[in-house]
Amino acid sequence: MSDWLLYHVWGIRGYKVARCEMVDRERVLVTIEATPQVLRCPCCGTKDVIRKGTNPRLFRGTPVGRKRIYFEAQVPRVRCERCRITRQVRISFAEEKRRHTRQFERYALELAQITSTQHAADHLGVSWDTVRDIEVRYLGKKYRKPKLKHLKQIAIDEIYLGKGMKFRTVVLDLDSGAIVHVGRGKWAEALDPFWKRLRGSHAQIKAVAADMSPAYALAVRKHLPKAVLVNDRFHVIKLYNEMLTELRRELYREAKTQLEKDVLKGTRWLLLKRIDNLNDERGEPTRLLEALELNQSLATAYYLKEDLNQFWEQRDKAAAACWLNLWLEDAERSGIRLLQKFAKTLASRRNSLLAWYDYPISTGPLEAVNNKIKLLNRQAFGYRDREFFQLKLLALHTSRYALVG
Ligand SMILES: [Zn+2]
Repeated sequence: MSDWLLYHVWGIRGYKVARCEMVDRERVLVTIEATPQVLRCPCCGTKDVIRKGTNPRLFRGTPVGRKRIYFEAQVPRVRCERCRITRQVRISFAEEKRRHTRQFERYALELAQITSTQHAADHLGVSWDTVRDIEVRYLGKKYRKPKLKHLKQIAIDEIYLGKGMKFRTVVLDLDSGAIVHVGRGKWAEALDPFWKRLRGSHAQIKAVAADMSPAYALAVRKHLPKAVLVNDRFHVIKLYNEMLTELRRELYREAKTQLEKDVLKGTRWLLLKRIDNLNDERGEPTRLLEALELNQSLATAYYLKEDLNQFWEQRDKAAAACWLNLWLEDAERSGIRLLQKFAKTLASRRNSLLAWYDYPISTGPLEAVNNKIKLLNRQAFGYRDREFFQLKLLALHTSRYALVG
């Protein structure tokens, strides 16, 4: 191997190749020797030093195909009279105390961005911990404390990660797609560290997308009095669907004939679908219509949901305000208790609903991120290694890896 390759391909400067050998079918050992240009004092940088022996060091370099490349270097020790010390010279091609070249680490990182940590480790023939350490060091430097100053529009939501991790509250920068905070738990406290850092950052947040829970409304009013809260379509419809499920259950309990019960029984999932999404081949439209014909309350509630979706399709904010009033009147007039209760909740959120016309943001991007988080969590390292998991989340937007379950 030539010295030219050593420098231009493996990024090792200041050394020349002494010998190459095949250790076995997979491993190549390259012995390298220091040139006079590395003989400098590691403290003051002077070249006025005396050689004092060497330290043997072994480094992994980036592989060539399936061949693993090892570099054995005799790293010189030097005596500096100015500093009055004897030390090993600086190694420019690897971090201190590391057994891999910088280039190898960069390569491992790139792999970990397009596949899982485990697959990257398998491919490189190193342990999971090695890739994990490289990732933690690099991601930590870059993402441990995300900058908040530039934040303008954010989305907040909670996510359930199973028994071990329980709930996490996630804040997403809607402009960059980066996660900027992951709080433990699902209550207001999960956001406390975020509000604290936000105050220090002097960010000018304009709008926040969140679900309809009063806790978020209170938190935004308290910590971001100048920002607008947007309750988005996804959460409004989700809440409506919950109400619809409850109504169906209530009607089932009150049903007088077996036929009524049977018809209601199979409609739980159909009620949550939009008309356009019903499956013709499975006879879903017919089944749903049967149930709706049999039950006036259910029909009213179902069609009002279809109507409600039009709130987000109005010409402008003024039209949407008018439209909302009409819808609320219809809901009130339905005489269905659960629907009236829902209408009250909506009415109390009028401003946050209409705010969508000023800031058409939603927690939608966060839903997509949440799915990625769940898959990431399933890659076995989740709660065993919280620091790593946290960093992976903060760097999630840079991952080009199409996570598969
Ligand atoms: Zn010195």
